[in-house]
Amino acid sequence: MTSITNHMPTAELQKLDAAHHMHPFSTNTEIAEKGARVITKAKGVFLTDSEGVEILDAMAGLWCVNIGYGREELAEVAARQMRELPFYNTFFQTSHVPAIALAAKLAELAPGDLNHVFFGSGGSDANDTNLRMVRAYWAMKGQPDRNIVIARKNGYHGSSMGSGSLGGMSAIHSQGGLPIPDIHHINQPHWYAEGGDMSPEDFGLARAQELEAEILKHGEHRVAAFIGEPIQGAGGVIIPPETYWPEIQRICDKYGILLIADEVICGFGRTGNWFGSQTLDIRPDIMTVAKGLSSGYQPIGASIVSDKIASVVDNNEFNHGYTYSGHPVAAAVALENLRILEEENILGHVRETAAPYLAEKWQALTDHPLVGEARICGMMGSIALTPHKETRAKFAADEGTVGLICRTRCFANGLVMRHVGDRMIISPPLVISNGEIDTLITRARLSLDEALAEAT
Ligand code: PLP
Repeated sequence: MTSITNHMPTAELQKLDAAHHMHPFSTNTEIAEKGARVITKAKGVFLTDSEGVEILDAMAGLWCVNIGYGREELAEVAARQMRELPFYNTFFQTSHVPAIALAAKLAELAPGDLNHVFFGSGGSDANDTNLRMVRAYWAMKGQPDRNIVIARKNGYHGSSMGSGSLGGMSAIHSQGGLPIPDIHHINQPHWYAEGGDMSPEDFGLARAQELEAEILKHGEHRVAAFIGEPIQGAGGVIIPPETYWPEIQRICDKYGILLIADEVICGFGRTGNWFGSQTLDIRPDIMTVAKGLSSGYQPIGASIVSDKIASVVDNNEFNHGYTYSGHPVAAAVALENLRILEEENILGHVRETAAPYLAEKWQALTDHPLVGEARICGMMGSIALTPHKETRAKFAADEGTVGLICRTRCFANGLVMRHVGDRMIISPPLVISNGEIDTLITRARLSLDEALAEAT
């Protein structure tokens, strides 16, 4: 077989890719027609493709490369760990130093009494763990009927059977028989799209109170947990009104419903604190983490669990686990990533430098004729594209058409910015400098101008 390397002509790589590689969330025939953009290397906040073109990655991969690309320390730790102990499992009363050290570190960083860590390989399987764990918890406490989990429409928690069911994306539910039973979805706190004439504050309260109505509909003795992302990411970076989370917290407390905060995107500095729950004042019983835990350098995720839940689940056998739960190489790399985040004060950089600068530039985009609103929290932001700012109207074309035009223009202009329908979203590496933010904004503006010319 010929060896396939970075030096192969792009067209040949694309041909092989289309022939054999099934891409996630993609129409593969479309990729065959157009050819995937092949990324060959990356450094800092920039990617390089197989044609040598540099692209500013304003999505940090898939919201994950928090410390930026190309950190040698992580490569070295991985190589060292592979030589010393490339694998051992954590089943059946065995353990190893990287898993022990990472669990202890996460317990130290996590707020409140979240002192126990169950590892997996990513966000989807960690949310599957959560789903089974909250149901097991109530069953172990003698309440096996308390198995309903309430989530939100347009939330995203992964694409496996369990996590895809927890998520509220109709495109995912329409394939494979999802959602599985006893998962129910309430409406999302998306004021711009769904708030009508209400003030954001009233709307946030009303949407949170749907949780109470849903609990009462089923009976509080049936409801195990509520799950939500502090800020919905894949749904379009939807920053909820300030009234939303306090009311959700009040309702969970009132009925003794467990609260799961899916921190897969919001965790590890994205909102300026270690966890989005700290930024939005949420007191979760479980946090899902992945992505920024290793800055994407290794596949690893985890559920960080409260004393209350762990004291029940640990005293009974929880028949659950993955071969790679606590994988030593992934755990060692995650620990090194956390060391860098901490010792280089990257959260301080976000809070004091990058986030305020980006917020100012981002908000200024509302002077563009296509931009109806610009929202940002820490290092995750979104803009809504609209043909009419005052009414927050949608485009006449199918939803997402203008967003796709804008995304395509961005890509051609050397910027990765994603679209969710007609919302453009960013989530750049946390280490981005002010000069790089200027480049991001210049390329975004150019792409918006071109999208305006093409779409109207
Ligand atoms: N939860 C949230 C909030 C996510 O954004 C994602 C992925 O984007 C997941 C869970 C799923 O994580 P993974 O793709 O690692 O399975």
